[in-house]
Amino acid sequence: MQTLGYTLKNMTESLPPCPACSSTYAYQVDALLNCPECGHEWSPGAPADDAREFRDSVGNILLDGDTVTVIKDLKLKGSSSVIKVGTKVRGIRLVDGDHDIDCKVPGFGQIGLKSQFVKKVSE
Ligand SMILES: [Zn+2]
Repeated sequence: MQTLGYTLKNMTESLPPCPACSSTYAYQVDALLNCPECGHEWSPGAPADDAREFRDSVGNILLDGDTVTVIKDLKLKGSSSVIKVGTKVRGIRLVDGDHDIDCKVPGFGQIGLKSQFVKKVSE
């Protein structure tokens, strides 16, 4: 399957269906696609809401449920506790924000980590 965004040359043959009503009669007006059936307008090049990529310190793509290790000692705000380098964290959840990993760290509980301070590991 071709990736949307690399098919601009064949735009007339590869217009995607309307994301609102799945009509296949969408037509292009300037940079936007228009749906004649429900009136929806959208930009075919715009990434979907969930298209943000989360990457760890070495560029691996992170996914919900991954296991990571902490690559440096992380001091917890407002306490003297430190999450030690090498701490393994299972079942991460990716969220929007400055601390983009929501996870449960053994001995610390629910904590937000930054993806640049972890490395994905395969179990
Ligand atoms: Zn539509």
